Amino acid sequence: MTTSREPGFETICVHFAEERQINHGAAAPPLYQCSTFTYPDAESFIARREDSTRFDYSRVSNPTTTLLEKKIAQLERGEACRAFGSGMAAVSAAILSCVKSGDHVVTIESVYGPTRQFLSQYLPRLGIETTFVRGTEVEHFEGAIRPNTRLIYLESPSSLIFALQDLAAVAKLARTRNISTLCDNSTASPYFQNPLALGVDIVLHSATKYIGGHSDVVAGLVVGSRAYIDNLAQQEGELLGGMCDPFASWLLLRGLRTLAIRMERHQRSAREIARLLETDGRVAAVNYCGTDSHAQAAMAKKQMRGHSGMLSFRLRESSRERTFDVINRLRLFCIGVSWGGFESLAIPIEVPDPQSGRPTWLIRLSIGLESVEDLKADLYQALG
Ligand code: PLP
Repeated sequence: MTTSREPGFETICVHFAEERQINHGAAAPPLYQCSTFTYPDAESFIARREDSTRFDYSRVSNPTTTLLEKKIAQLERGEACRAFGSGMAAVSAAILSCVKSGDHVVTIESVYGPTRQFLSQYLPRLGIETTFVRGTEVEHFEGAIRPNTRLIYLESPSSLIFALQDLAAVAKLARTRNISTLCDNSTASPYFQNPLALGVDIVLHSATKYIGGHSDVVAGLVVGSRAYIDNLAQQEGELLGGMCDPFASWLLLRGLRTLAIRMERHQRSAREIARLLETDGRVAAVNYCGTDSHAQAAMAKKQMRGHSGMLSFRLRESSRERTFDVINRLRLFCIGVSWGGFESLAIPIEVPDPQSGRPTWLIRLSIGLESVEDLKADLYQALG
């Protein structure tokens, strides 16, 4: 049967760009765990860079990684993708590809910590300045733009307090000023949000999180136009050298096969837990953009198809001691950084209170794939 229908998300994950018959019919793609590729003669060696069907060296490209990049580009509705050795390798390479000495960047105050450090501490060494804004209104970005602003760096939802930015409105504003937009889409995953389809120029992921999904791989991904990715691959990709290794790519391909069903389950469980916390008298506030009570629920509905398993909450008695005590009582939630894996995680985080600006303690949860009834019971008992 032939059909003109575009393949759905899950079908892309399973079949897109697979060449099973040239791989002996293997259902899972081969892992090309090698650094260098050989040639039959000196002529084909010298002509290698002109022949796009050949591979040369795994810092430049590798067949296993290329398959991953093709699938991710398709899932994010971009033309091309470049895979990196970590989310931070993707973040730093993508930012560096957009700015030069004397330029200015605008980003959100709640951006991921090491991204903040890269922008506020590392880039000034190269003569690049950054302004941090709240970012919940497009006017916050508009007010911070300078004549030398070259990049607006977004992270929606952000990964601690899950604040959103209006991606279509910020992209439109930036386009009129000739400014590039880049969105860290790790929290939503490509299953629930596609920033490129909303007008954003570049999207990136810490693939360590939901795309990997099994807490066994560290990697990053950048997606954009073919021209942008070709340039990124040749400059920051090859020269800084933070390439995704073939085994990591192979693990990410495996993660992709269950991404859709995992995201559905993360969403269902997180929604139940957010509702439970919202009605618990021991909890003062819940940061989860997937319920109608969230301050940015309308924006979430406009630009997201769903919500991941991430949320944070503040206790009514939110001292350091009480927050730590609740976390220490958890039995199923592990205590650890990162998120998006099969296992539920909890950490204490200290962030400025949105009203007073004073530091306040929150508990951030990454809801895993355990029985949600067990997770709810664990939280209930830990709240004491
Ligand atoms: N972006 C966000 C939102 C993150 O939470 C992280 C890591 O926690 C990163 C980027 C960096 O990714 P990686 O740890 O894979 O370098």
